This record gives sequence, structure tokens and C-alpha cells, in this order.
Amino acid sequence: MAKIEQIPPGPEGQHTHVIVGDGITALAFFEASLERDMDHIVVVGNQASQLGRGAAYAKGDADVPWRFAYLLNSPADDIDPQFAEWLVHHWDTIAAKMQNRSPNWLAAAAPLVESDDLYGVNAPREFYGDFMEEKTRALVEAFEARGVKVTLLDDMATALAIESNQVMITTQGGRVLRAQSVDVAPGGPSTMRIDGDEGPFSSPSVFGFETRIAEHIKSGAEIFCIGGNAAMLDVLRLCQSLIPEQDLRFVACAPDGEIPTPLVPRLPRKLTVPTFSKGHATADAFLAEVRREIDKALADGDEMREIRAGFRAHFLQTPLSSYLPDVEEARKVPGALRFWLRGGTRDTIQDMHRLVGEGKARVVKGLVQEVRHNDGGAEVVVTDDAGHQQSIQTGFVVNCAGAGPGSRFDPLTEDMLAQGLLSRSHVGGGLQVGAGCKTSAPNVRYLSPAVSEIGAEVIAMPLYDAHMLRSYVARSM
Ligand SMILES: Cc1cc2nc3c(=O)[nH]c(=O)nc-3n(C[C@H](O)[C@H](O)[C@H](O)COP(=O)(O)OP(=O)(O)OC[C@H]3O[C@@H](n4cnc5c(N)ncnc54)[C@H](O)[C@@H]3O)c2cc1C
Repeated sequence: MAKIEQIPPGPEGQHTHVIVGDGITALAFFEASLERDMDHIVVVGNQASQLGRGAAYAKGDADVPWRFAYLLNSPADDIDPQFAEWLVHHWDTIAAKMQNRSPNWLAAAAPLVESDDLYGVNAPREFYGDFMEEKTRALVEAFEARGVKVTLLDDMATALAIESNQVMITTQGGRVLRAQSVDVAPGGPSTMRIDGDEGPFSSPSVFGFETRIAEHIKSGAEIFCIGGNAAMLDVLRLCQSLIPEQDLRFVACAPDGEIPTPLVPRLPRKLTVPTFSKGHATADAFLAEVRREIDKALADGDEMREIRAGFRAHFLQTPLSSYLPDVEEARKVPGALRFWLRGGTRDTIQDMHRLVGEGKARVVKGLVQEVRHNDGGAEVVVTDDAGHQQSIQTGFVVNCAGAGPGSRFDPLTEDMLAQGLLSRSHVGGGLQVGAGCKTSAPNVRYLSPAVSEIGAEVIAMPLYDAHMLRSYVARSM
């Protein structure tokens, strides 16, 4: 039975602040709390003792070949300019760690290194986690130097109750935390499930299932990914870390039959500057302008990195409502922007195109309906746009579909939704919070990649992006 620990309320008049979560959003809330007047700050997260890593930037197991295989999707300075600086300072250590690894990350980074553009590399995600752990340590010292007590608790918050002037949080480990204010940053929802995605020849995700998937990769099975986005690229890296490329047999199945555009950095850095007119009545009218601006930038030779980062900077400055005041219409915009501005890890996408050219990988257009299991492998049932069904025989299937209908949130978010502290948009199911990320309880804030509306604003570009999350935390203060 878990040890029951109570974090007692401080003496009368003292302020305890609780942050739920251990990813970059929780770390951003932690950093922003330095500006606030409080006596005790408690972070409760699955691995709060490694605050900043969260689900995306975890420390890998020491001896597995795929350690350091997963890369950030954007150039380092697009994710965080401070991280890019950190990377340069730690380059010698990083280069030593990345020697003799498969896939050969140093070779892929070489053109950028040679052109003195280390800021542009797609760093292994674990290194971003290292940077954030260092940041956490520095922040803990800064809090303590101010006389603020810091407690990092490895635990999961399961429910939250609003009392008159405080909030009571209960945890899986049997703890009860009392606080005057709370920030909740629990990450996005689970990957949507697909019939048969957990069986002898399939896994419901790549993360946490690598050891089992690795057995099939090493046995020479064809690996079939449901979905064509970032997690699919991670599976390709997993394969490349385990077997020689000549043995690789890889399939990505995506509804549009396409893989994202690589985000290629160029010197000098450039941001596309879009121009939109105000006062649109419909999403269609506004989206026609967005499409025009993207096409114009592409025709001018802008890279998707420049377009995407430029649009992101633009919408962080100028809210969608200034172009499209009708909130119902605005809700139709993020889905299109997400699709049109799709981009990902340069190294891996370039590898994927090369492997397709060499016949070692292929992309299937369609929607996976079901995975069936036979004696020696899997059969994937796929439908196309017209509803025609086909069955594809393959070796092993990995669900990389991302969030979608039927995805589940963490227990605390579900609890907060049930209490009406948060709500869900009827378009796309994103989460709605109040201005400044406040929930309906004024002393509780909430931010995660699943948030699609903050106050009266529909967020134009989805928040599955480290830079955006940090920006919205900073402006919620
Ligand atoms: C595998 C992966 C790769 C990604 N790669 C990139 C990238 O390259 N670039 C980019 O910009 N974005 C990337 N993203 C998008 C990513 O969502 C954001 O960049 C960012 O990491 C989200 O941070 P977060 O803190 O909001 O959530 P998370 O990183 O998901 O962290 C939330 C954490 O809170 C914990 N938690 C959840 N509920 C509770 C609870 N009730 N109590 C306690 N703890 C709880 C979870 O266990 C989790 O560790 C990636 C996401 C994933 C999942």
C-alpha cells in the first residue's frame, strides 16, 4: 500500500502553490511562479523529480540501441533559442555520445555543423530534456534563495476539489495536497485506439513498447505504421537503430498518403510575414487568404520552416479574432492550418523519401479501420476516400495515429471536465479554458496541448508545440 503523505497547509496567511504535471508546460508554470508571491511550491508529476521532461523528452534506458534515436521535430532555435545556445555549449559532449550510432545522426547534422549552424540541428529529444532538468535545478536554487520552499513529488494527481479559499488535490499515492492556487499541465490525450491495435502483431503506441516492437524489427518483419506524422518518424528511427537499412521493410499509412514536409533551416534565418485582411465573416473566406499567403510564400521559395515559424509568430502577435470575429467560424480554422503547415524532422523525412525511392519503404493512402492477427503476421483493413476497402498483409503494426475520436485524458482532466472546471469545444473536442488559462475556479489555471480556446480566443495554430505552450504560460501571468 502506498505511503500516505499529507502536505499540511502552511501557517495562516502562507501561500502554497501546486503545479500538476512534469513536462515543459509545468516547467514554464514553475518558472513563471518566480514572479509570484508564495511560500511553498509543490510540483506533483509522474516524474516531477525530472521536471521538464514530461512525455516527450524522457531519459532513455542506458543500453538500448534506440536511445537518442528520437529527434526534435524542428531546428533547435525554433523550439527554444536558449536550448540552441545550450546545445552549442555542450556540443563536444553530445558529439561524443552520438559517435557510432545508427542512424548516423552526426552525418545528418554535418552540413549544418560545417556551415556553422548548430542552432539548426534536429537534436535528440533526450538532450532537450537534459537542458530542462538543468533549468529546473537552477530554478529550485532561485526559489530557495528567495526563501520559497520547493517540493517535487513523483505522483499522479487524480482529483481536485475547490474549497472556500483553497484547493484540495488528491493523488494516486494517497496524498492530499492543500493549496491556495494551482496550475495544471497534464499533457495531451492518449492516442486514439483502433480495433486490433493491441495484439500478437501490433502495439497501441511506439512509446513504451519499443522492446516488443524491436523483436519483430530484428526478426525481419515488415513494420506498418498507422499514421504518417511524428510518431511514425520515430518508428522509422527505431527500425534504423536496430537493423541495417538494406533489411528494412517499412510502411506508413496516412489518410492523405503524404508525409510531412521537412523543416529545413537556412541562414540567415527568415520568417515568412503573412498579410491578411480584417473583418472576414466566414472561415472559408479567411482560409482562402491563408492558402493564398502560403502559396505565395512557396512560390517565393520560402521553406516550410520559414512559413510555419512565420505564421506561428504572426498568430502569437495577432489573434485569429481580429480577422474572423465569429467564434463558430474561427473554430473551423485550426484544423486546416494544422494540415497545411504540417512539417517535421528534417533528417528523418529526408531518410523516408530516400527509402521510398529505394523501395525499402512505402506510403499507403487510406484510413485504417481494423488490424487482424494471423498465424505469422497482421492484416490491416484500410478504406480509401471513396469507401473502397482493401486488406494489406504485413508483419507488425504500430499505432501512430495520434489523438482523435475516443482518445482519453488523464484522470485529473476527466475529473475537471466532470466538475465543469473545463469544457470541450463541440468542434474537434479541444479543451476550453478562460482568459489567462483560468478555469472556472479563479485560482486554478490549466494549459495543455489539447487546449484549443483560451478566453474568447480560438488558438489559430494547435498547441502541440513547445514554443507555443511556453508563450501562452508567459502571457497567462
Ligand atoms: C513523443 C512526443 C514528441 C514530441 N516532439 C515535439 C517536438 O519535437 N517539438 C515540439 O515543439 N513539440 C513536440 N511534441 C509536442 C508536445 O506535446 C509539446 O512540445 C510538449 O512537450 C508538451 O508538454 P506538456 O508539458 O504540456 O505535456 P507532456 O510533455 O505530455 O507532459 C505532461 C506530463 O504530466 C504528467 N501528468 C499527466 N497527468 C498528470 C496528473 N494528473 N498528475 C501528475 N502528472 C500528470 C504526464 O505523465 C506527463 O509526463 C511532442 C510530443 C510528444 C508526445
